[in-house]
Amino acid sequence: MNNLTRLSQNQLNLLETCPRKFQHLYLDQLKSPLSREQQEHITWGNRFHLLMQQRELGLPIESLLNEDPQLEHSLNALVRAAPETLTPASETWREAEHCRTLNFQGYLLTVVYDLLLADAQKADIFDWKTYLQPTNRNQLANDWQTRLYLYVLAETSPYLPEQIAMTYWFVKQRSAPTSLTLTYDNAQHEKTQQDLTTLLTKLDRWLPEYREQGKPFPQVAEEKGLCPSCSFAVRCQRTPESSELVTGKDWCSSVAEIEEVPLSNL
Ligand code: SF4
Repeated sequence: MNNLTRLSQNQLNLLETCPRKFQHLYLDQLKSPLSREQQEHITWGNRFHLLMQQRELGLPIESLLNEDPQLEHSLNALVRAAPETLTPASETWREAEHCRTLNFQGYLLTVVYDLLLADAQKADIFDWKTYLQPTNRNQLANDWQTRLYLYVLAETSPYLPEQIAMTYWFVKQRSAPTSLTLTYDNAQHEKTQQDLTTLLTKLDRWLPEYREQGKPFPQVAEEKGLCPSCSFAVRCQRTPESSELVTGKDWCSSVAEIEEVPLSNL
């Protein structure tokens, strides 16, 4: 990475949750094959996003729908649940897969909105999710996807924070899709700015220490309880057996067995 580095919401989430995991995935570039279930989930999600983009562009979608009845079911259910969002209106500007970038302290903060609708009074960001809706609203409100998507739009458009909202649609449900809308205001905008400044100032320090002195990024506190379920637990010596596993000839085989986190799941 150089001084002008692209950062996504996934990377910000990781930097905040466990900087060492960020190092493993993005600097050490440790990767592992996905399970069949994970791969199928990602493929289905990619197809749904492609379907929605092609639909917005007025391109044919029949071949995609014919391949997968679940896609057609989810699309029809979403159209029924959100007709005002998915039906173009003359007074509203709209674009699928809308990309924006903001230079913040030398880092290029990059967002891609699944759908952006805007008119004279407001701008609405939409995101299609293919997992079940989290029961905890704060979990989504505090996720860097929500925070970054709202922040970047407020910084790169004429809209005030209060004129912007973000809606998640959870599309792969057995019955009807569900949605959650998060509003925005100036206080949240300032808080996000402060938190970004704090986080990226730390990254400014960690990066050269890692590159020039080989100093690893900090680990999350063990008391947070994140390590036992992390795929890097052995590498980080955060399992009860790890001190035994990372010594002598066992080290090679234990590292080879590490199941690492797919980038797309971060
Ligand atoms: S095992 Fe713990 S410290 Fe290591 S990367 Fe995973 S969460 Fe971070």
